[in-house]
Amino acid sequence: MDNITALGGEVYEIDTRMAGYSGITAGYLILGDRPCLVETGTATSAPVVRDALTSLGVGPGDLATIVVTHIHLDHAGGVGDIAAFYPDAEIVVHEKGARHLADPSRLMASARMVWGDKLDVLFGELSPTESSRIRALGDTGAIDLGNGRTLSSHYSPGHAKHHVGLIDSGTGDLYVGDAAGVYLPQTGDLRPATPPPDFDLETALNSITLFGALGPQRLLFSHYGPVTDVEETLGRSAEELRVWVDLTRQARSEGMDLDHAVAMVRERTRERYAALTADEATAEQFELLSGAPSNVAGILHWLDRVQP
Ligand SMILES: [Zn+2]
Repeated sequence: MDNITALGGEVYEIDTRMAGYSGITAGYLILGDRPCLVETGTATSAPVVRDALTSLGVGPGDLATIVVTHIHLDHAGGVGDIAAFYPDAEIVVHEKGARHLADPSRLMASARMVWGDKLDVLFGELSPTESSRIRALGDTGAIDLGNGRTLSSHYSPGHAKHHVGLIDSGTGDLYVGDAAGVYLPQTGDLRPATPPPDFDLETALNSITLFGALGPQRLLFSHYGPVTDVEETLGRSAEELRVWVDLTRQARSEGMDLDHAVAMVRERTRERYAALTADEATAEQFELLSGAPSNVAGILHWLDRVQP
């Protein structure tokens, strides 16, 4: 299938075709004795992901684990559907996200407030998972991949308070979720992902430091794909956060409202990203995933909390 890319080490990148787009949101299958899916994508992507797993030889009784880096709907919206497709799989998530997978009503209501009618097109509806199938992670945890291979989880808040990074003992791959920002392989651009209501600068920077200390061989971005230049990329992740926070702080100190702050930050960061001057589709990808309005709103929300 043309939406599957073999990355070596029995790892396969699956383009979930989020909302019909290519190259927006990846899921990853770690094959081997105990196949593990990292990120499900959205609910509307679930059939795409199932077809990909089928073509990789993973049948309904074969998937051992479904793990999500965090419960935002582009990463975990498909959990209920995928869990139903694979009845033997254990669902693994940070403890701060677990109850929302069992009962998504509150999560869906707040997503509906943010996205309105666009919710159905972009994400669809997260369906509930029996709580007996959910394993909640604390600060660290381990997933058995079989044959002595382990996927270890590390709590990494900042982008979201229910976020974990996952490192594979077999490959050194680190699944970074959104904690290191959003990477665009077409241009090599990296932007921060600082949405409300959880964004917190210090926490986010600490998570990036933690990622570096794990000594990964490769970073696997949910948005989007593998990066082998680990140190440089994590350095860039931290720098991006500081740039966006500094500019948003400045806009706030000048008394700008959200719209003006967004316009100012967008203008002052424009030259950092080749994507914005590339074709329109590439620019649109960035705005969908780490849009300036969402990033600036998240930083303002945090500033209002720490410096009222
Ligand atoms: Zn997220």
